[in-house]
Amino acid sequence: MSEVAKLDELRVGGLTLTGITRGGVETCLMVPELAVMFDVGMCPPGALTYPTILVSHGHADHLGGLTYLISQHGLMSSPAPVIHMPEEIVAPMRQILAGWSQIEGFELQFDLHGHAPDSRAAVGRNLSALALRTSHRVPSLAWLIERTTHRLRPEYVGREGREIAGLRAAGEVITDTHVEPLLCVTGDTKIEFFDEQALARRCKILVHECTSWDDRRDVEVTRKWGHTHLDELVARAEQFTGEALVLVHRSMRHSRREAEAIVDRRFPAAMRGKIHVFGW
Ligand SMILES: [Zn+2]
Ligand SMILES: [Zn+2]
Repeated sequence: MSEVAKLDELRVGGLTLTGITRGGVETCLMVPELAVMFDVGMCPPGALTYPTILVSHGHADHLGGLTYLISQHGLMSSPAPVIHMPEEIVAPMRQILAGWSQIEGFELQFDLHGHAPDSRAAVGRNLSALALRTSHRVPSLAWLIERTTHRLRPEYVGREGREIAGLRAAGEVITDTHVEPLLCVTGDTKIEFFDEQALARRCKILVHECTSWDDRRDVEVTRKWGHTHLDELVARAEQFTGEALVLVHRSMRHSRREAEAIVDRRFPAAMRGKIHVFGW
């Protein structure tokens, strides 16, 4: 297996990110603690264990493995995977899957949902995925996972369980609801997404695409392809107030070692500890 095809793994903000992500080659990011997978890539090892898939857009390096993944689920007789994607690509994707069913002589089972920007999908207990518009060459969405927790109000802390249960039964509101922006994965996008989405800038973990890392492809050309250049993120890094800014989708022009050296050299010292290079 080539270096690029190897799964990378990063533990940040209480979550594990595992997967493959190189610009134009393959992108699939799995988060076991949330049982959620972002994009499919070519369906790398482990991808078949994820019941929920959040798709950013339809470029083949992000979605090419979907037919294979659905077909494999059929072979294993596992529940149909739940797939959320931009609404614009649902109809052509259904056509592709219908054609594939015909080729395989076997009815593929899947649960496909189209999303407009700002719509939501429930993805697990207390977890909701918010679709946010990104700016790429085709219809595209970022996905932001919010976690809702209920905390006992301070005035009830320390009381006995039976008393709490009694208060609850009497209709007293004894908890406060807290919604935390936990993880945002941009998919492919120009920097407009970072500038426009305040919620992403304060998300605990922001996985942002960074395709170009130096002048071999400058900001202007990078933008023409619908991507983000490192210069644009360096200029804005301090606006990110979360715990970890994870840079993915690096072009094959740049090695991992090169990218890590560039992070050390280019980002403000106070930010360096938050910046992570992901993908071999
Ligand atoms: Zn891509
Ligand atoms: Zn793309």
